[in-house]
Amino acid sequence: MQYSELSPRIKKVYAQVRYMDDYHWELNGGRITGIHKKSNVKVIIDVASDKEHAQKLAENGNSGGIRIIAIPDKSVFFIHNGAFILTYRYIKATLADINDHIVWSGFRLIEQDGELLQEDFYEYLGGSLVNHLKNNMLAGQDYVFWQFYKCEKCGKYVDVENMERHLKEHGIKHHEKSEERYEVFEINFRDGKVYDKYGNEVKRSSFSEEAQEFLSEILSGASSE
Ligand SMILES: [Zn+2]
Repeated sequence: MQYSELSPRIKKVYAQVRYMDDYHWELNGGRITGIHKKSNVKVIIDVASDKEHAQKLAENGNSGGIRIIAIPDKSVFFIHNGAFILTYRYIKATLADINDHIVWSGFRLIEQDGELLQEDFYEYLGGSLVNHLKNNMLAGQDYVFWQFYKCEKCGKYVDVENMERHLKEHGIKHHEKSEERYEVFEINFRDGKVYDKYGNEVKRSSFSEEAQEFLSEILSGASSE
């Protein structure tokens, strides 16, 4: 297929997204597919003629990824059946928001042809994204995502920076690990609390002493507004 054969609608939407280099872009079968480079999370963008058409599309067919349905109508943004239905102009911001909600959550070394390769894990925090959009919350200003490691000895959550020291106290050598998986929590500056990816509060007592200190520090600096 030639680029000139695509519908003007698809071209208009594609012209909005092609600068977003966190994604690898493909055009196929009348839709635009963005593959998030680091995580391989897929974003499928369909183009509809209006709100009603978009809702119908959202109700039919699972895309196997994050779904965006773009429409030419002005100032539209809502979620229907898990799909983001929005004005062309909002696509870039939404893709940037999605990128902010794909967070590194660990690694492991795998052996391949006599070599050791690091495989990274990422999580897409879709529930948090919807919550942040609803409450108009900005990354870095209203919240940050942070990786915590659940200690295999005491069961407490330790922030990544304090992990080595914490494990050492248990007699565990951090550098001997070839695989680590983290819980990604949201540190919320608005209410001074920590939440898991489902939006449940993670109580301070679930954290190790060092992590509690770290949390007090990061939250005290931000709660002055
Ligand atoms: Zn421990």
